[in-house]
Amino acid sequence: MTTPHQFGIAGLLGWPVAHSRSPVIHNHWLAQFGIPGRYVLFPVPPEKLEQAVRGIQVLGLRGCNVTTPHKQAIFPMLDRVDDLARRIGAVQTVVVEKDGTLSGFNNDGNGFIQSIKDAAPAWRPDSGPILVLGAGGAARAVVASLAAQGAKEIRLANRTIDKAREIADAVGAVVKVVPWEQREDALDGVALVANATSAGAAGKPPLDIALDRLPAHAIAGDLIYVPPETPFLAAARARGNVTVNGLGLLLNQARPAFNAWFGVMPEITSELLRAIEATF
Ligand code: NAP
Repeated sequence: MTTPHQFGIAGLLGWPVAHSRSPVIHNHWLAQFGIPGRYVLFPVPPEKLEQAVRGIQVLGLRGCNVTTPHKQAIFPMLDRVDDLARRIGAVQTVVVEKDGTLSGFNNDGNGFIQSIKDAAPAWRPDSGPILVLGAGGAARAVVASLAAQGAKEIRLANRTIDKAREIADAVGAVVKVVPWEQREDALDGVALVANATSAGAAGKPPLDIALDRLPAHAIAGDLIYVPPETPFLAAARARGNVTVNGLGLLLNQARPAFNAWFGVMPEITSELLRAIEATF
């Protein structure tokens, strides 16, 4: 349907979308590779989602990202959804295939995993037990992707335990649900602890966890990137642990999407990091 010399458009479907850093990332790569195109924001209210999705192919878009509140609602509007996105229960990237059909993916969990590897190249999902805090959509993507990439033990703690149980049921026996009150005990022996709650985000109270039991070699990851260092990451860094914020996830989920839309696998360069840092 598309040819390389056509002006390529991709964008973000969400409600709201104004806070997104994705235009900075994709427009940086488009300029870097000299690809004529643009990544734009599409504020689409829930009742207009179906019309907007029908327009994706008709208007010649290469695809789009999907964010709150459309990540589940978009499922029946797509021609296919890949296995991982099904297990996660959410689509965050749509690709218009050569025949004009729409495929759905979810790169958030794999993006998080890659961001940890970027910071700690020796780490693998099966390096040791992992503690994930939170059981919202982001936690589900991280847990399902860690399991798919060979994690042996994922401890999952959430303030509302039933949501953690739902993820464990969907992902399988590799996920051990931990009561929220026991989250600090669950730090024992971990290779990675990941904050996938919204606690610690700008304007929210910090994550309530003491890190005394966090092993010295463990990596502390946070999906949040505003602020760039949450109180949780600051506490882990003060103890000498390697820390990774959510910017790495954002950048690493964007790479395969850009490749699918524009046919080039882009890199995370220092120029790109500077362009994003300038937005804070
Ligand atoms: P969500 O579906 O709304 O889930 C929020 C989670 O945070 C729930 O598990 C909730 O627990 C927990 N929570 C909220 N306040 C808490 C507190 N004070 N103490 C303990 N737990 C608390 O959100 P989401 O979509 O999963 O996103 C989670 C975070 O990841 C957000 O900050 C989001 O911005 C970030 N994120 C970043 C990226 C990225 O590109 N870096 C991508 C996706 C998400 P309950 O279930 O008990 O309410």
